[in-house]
Amino acid sequence: MNLEKLRAKMAGEGLDALVLFSPVNIRYLSRFHCTDGAAVVTKSSAVLFTDSRYIEAARSQCDELAVELFDRDHALTAAVRAAVAGCGAVGAEGTLAHSEWLRWEKELGVELRPAEGLLSALRAVKEPFELESITAAQRIAETALDEVLRILRPGMTERELAAELTYRMLLHGGEGNSFDPIAITGRKTSMPHGVPGDEVIRDGDFVTMDFGCLKNGYCSDMTRTVAVGSATEEMRRVYDTVLRAQLAGIAAARAGVTGAAVHDAGAAVIDEAGYGAFFGHGFGHSVGLEIHEKPTASPANDKPLPAGAVITAEPGIYLPGRFGVRIEDMICLTEEGSVNLTRAPKELIIV
Ligand code: ZN
Ligand code: ZN
Repeated sequence: MNLEKLRAKMAGEGLDALVLFSPVNIRYLSRFHCTDGAAVVTKSSAVLFTDSRYIEAARSQCDELAVELFDRDHALTAAVRAAVAGCGAVGAEGTLAHSEWLRWEKELGVELRPAEGLLSALRAVKEPFELESITAAQRIAETALDEVLRILRPGMTERELAAELTYRMLLHGGEGNSFDPIAITGRKTSMPHGVPGDEVIRDGDFVTMDFGCLKNGYCSDMTRTVAVGSATEEMRRVYDTVLRAQLAGIAAARAGVTGAAVHDAGAAVIDEAGYGAFFGHGFGHSVGLEIHEKPTASPANDKPLPAGAVITAEPGIYLPGRFGVRIEDMICLTEEGSVNLTRAPKELIIV
C-alpha cells in the first residue's frame, strides 16, 4: 500500500513526519480527492485534514488515514502543529508560494525539508490498484475510439470529433478527459499539440486523435493517426516509420534501462529513415494521477527506469505545412521488458 511505501521512504530519508499539501499527492496517499487541506504522516499516525465540504465523503472513503475536520474554530495550522509535535525532522511537499512555506515553518516551529522528490519517486512505481485504474481508463478510451472510427467521415469538423471522443468516454464510464483531447486533421497534423477547431476533415487527410480519460482519478493516454479515404505513398512511408520507431522503443524498454536509451532506440529508426529533423519531442512520459509524470523516456533522463513504471511510447514525425503522424501506447515496465496496456490496433487504418 502507498502508506507503507511512503513510511519506508521517509525512514530512508531520515524524516519523522511528512506534511502533504498538494491535492494530487494527498489523493495518491488516501485515494480521496479534495482541493483543500493537508495530510500528515508520522511513524505512528496518518491523518487527513479536510473541511466541511469533504468531511463526510472523506470519513466514509479513507480506510488507512484518520480524517479530521478543520474550520474557523479548529485551524489547519494548529491541527498540523499538533500532528507533528515531537517530530524532529519534518518534510513537506506541495506547490506553496515561498511566503507560504515560510509561514508554515513559523507556525510549526520547524525547518521544513522539501520532500517533493520522495513522492514522485513513489508514484513512478504503480501499485496493482493504480495499474487497474489506468488500464480501465484505457479500455474506455478504446471503446470510444472504436465507435468514433465508425462515424468519422469527410465533412466532420475537428471540434465535432473531439466532442464525440469526449462524449463517448463519459458515456462508457470515464470520469472526464485526462486532458483536452487533440483531434486535428490535414495540415494541422504537423502540429504535435494542435487545438481542435472548425477545420473540416477532407478526403485524403490524416486525422490525429490524442486523448484519454480518467478512472479512479488515474489517466489514460493514447494517440492514433488514421487516413481518410486514401493515403499517398509518402503518407504510408511516414506512418510505417513512426510505427517501426514505436516498436523499436518498446522493444528497448525494460526496468533498468535509462529513459534516454528508450528514446534513442525509437529516434534511431526515424533518423535512419531521414526524418530525424521532424521528431522534436521525447519518446514518452509517465502517466498516473497526472497526465505527465516522471520518469520520462526522453534524452534528458539518464536514470534507469523502474519496474512498474507506466510510460507512453509516442514517437512522431511532423512535416511542417504538410502532415504529421504520431502513434501512442502506454506500456508498463517489467524486469524482462514491458506489458502493453493499449489494445487498439495500430496498423494504418483508412476510414
Ligand atoms: Zn497523448
Ligand atoms: Zn502522451
